[in-house]
Amino acid sequence: MKLVYFIPLLLMSHLNGYSQKWSGNTTPTYPELISHLQELDKQHKEIQLFNMGSSDYGLPIYLCVINGAKDSLKTFEKAKNQTTILINNAIHAGEPDGVNACLLWLEQWIRAEKPTKSNEGKNLPVIAFIPAYNVGGMMNRSSKSRANQNGPETYGFRGSAKNLDLNRDFIKMDASNSFTFARIFHALDPDVFIDNHVSNGADYPYTLTYISSLKERMAPSMRVLTYESCIPTLTAYCQTGNFELFPYVELKGETPESGIVAFNDLPRYAMGYASLFHSLSFTVETHMLKPFPERVAATLSFMNSLIAYTIGHSEEIETARNSAKNWVKNQTTYYYNYQLNEKQVDQIRFKGYQAIYPEHPVTGLKQLAYDRSQRYEKYIPYFNSYVAKDSVIIPKYYIVSGQEQAVIERLESNQVDFTRITASSTKTVEVSSFIVKDFKAPSKPYEGHFKLHDLKIEKQTIQLALKPGDILIPCQQEKASFIHAVLQPLAEDSYLTWNFFDSYLQQKEYFSAYVFKDQIAEILEAQPKLKEAYEQRKQLDVKFANDEWEQLFFIYRNSPYFEPSYMRLPIYEVYRAF
Ligand SMILES: [Zn+2]
Repeated sequence: MKLVYFIPLLLMSHLNGYSQKWSGNTTPTYPELISHLQELDKQHKEIQLFNMGSSDYGLPIYLCVINGAKDSLKTFEKAKNQTTILINNAIHAGEPDGVNACLLWLEQWIRAEKPTKSNEGKNLPVIAFIPAYNVGGMMNRSSKSRANQNGPETYGFRGSAKNLDLNRDFIKMDASNSFTFARIFHALDPDVFIDNHVSNGADYPYTLTYISSLKERMAPSMRVLTYESCIPTLTAYCQTGNFELFPYVELKGETPESGIVAFNDLPRYAMGYASLFHSLSFTVETHMLKPFPERVAATLSFMNSLIAYTIGHSEEIETARNSAKNWVKNQTTYYYNYQLNEKQVDQIRFKGYQAIYPEHPVTGLKQLAYDRSQRYEKYIPYFNSYVAKDSVIIPKYYIVSGQEQAVIERLESNQVDFTRITASSTKTVEVSSFIVKDFKAPSKPYEGHFKLHDLKIEKQTIQLALKPGDILIPCQQEKASFIHAVLQPLAEDSYLTWNFFDSYLQQKEYFSAYVFKDQIAEILEAQPKLKEAYEQRKQLDVKFANDEWEQLFFIYRNSPYFEPSYMRLPIYEVYRAF
């Protein structure tokens, strides 16, 4: 294995020689950060700072691009056509390690006289980073909100201006930040994506851990690239850089010894979202108890390693992504509802601190602590296999009714390809329609929503009269993974679950029993099948047989008087050629 770029930096374990401004125990405020980058943008034509749109705080979200086209209008064209890395920082503004790491990266690059080729003559990718994504969180500074974190001295807050966790907002898009992110993401179409964080949780010696996408959800080419090429290479690079790369320590039980679990990167998360578009994606989690400068150095080393990998493997990355984009177009089944496969367990060699349970002097209770003087190294169970519990045959098209502006806006901002029905293209088509038969909602909100769960859906074939404004979405397109993830009602992060269609879950009209009971004889006469079902139920169900209202409602629900829109989602599947 050969390192192709910035070898000295990979070998560094501290930040001596760097400006104290970014390598100490402090991180810039949002105004300081942006004015510094504006200065660099002025001084260096290779560094460009773009205002990409609003945040929910009001101030803009910026994008800093290195090695774009010298003509800034062409930078996004270059990013789309060449290998591009996108780095997202401070989505949780209390976790600013990536902010400083990117500033140090710029400093090292300028000092090295801005090389755009590796020692072997390979091109530096287009490197783009969002200096700080959670602008509202950046403006809400303190030194207390990360109770267990070892620096920096002051930092931002996890919630955005609207108090949203932006790292749950990529599908529902409640914050304007998410629309700006979609604009950035699709303008660059990044081949490689990093989202920088600081972890909470158990204590162990690793300074930095990474999360990679769920391998079962990925296109085969991206799975091979991630797990057989990229991660082994990064692990080796980091070892040369004198720090050990380890997967994120998501605990199975109370301590790492009972095993760790691969993280299910649902589409609501930054990395899960990027994976829907086949980017080679990582979430970086530095360890909260390590000093801030050490965490920043590790974040920078990871970044350098991934840049080195990208330089050395750009053709492999491009080929894998193109093949994933083609693969997804030709799938016939969509798999969802991934659950941990507890029967399939790997072993992974882990360096840990002994868990102990000393009696606490204040609470008097025996509670978990980690004894750093007792180190161990041993194999622990690694649950890294998931199975899709559900699947659905992929239709040729989806139709979304035109009144669903919020949904259409989100599909548009993710550059989903669709056509709009016009007055001259209206017609009646056979569609499969989704009827919600049952659902549950929590009693407390989660990220601003009463997210629906335990859904039961029935499909009905109906003739649908299309109206102007309805949209027709072909499934044979590069964005298909995103489309299924949001439109298949039972998918984990579907728009249905995120409450986009709640208005259809309420009945709007009723009947007056004293009037309706005079009509039921006629209704049953006209619908022999209904009559049969009604008589049968009366015989089998004593409660039903003795409850007039229940009987009337049963007939009403199955009669032409009942509103067809009740529980019927404004999304349809079309299985035939259109
Ligand atoms: Zn975080």
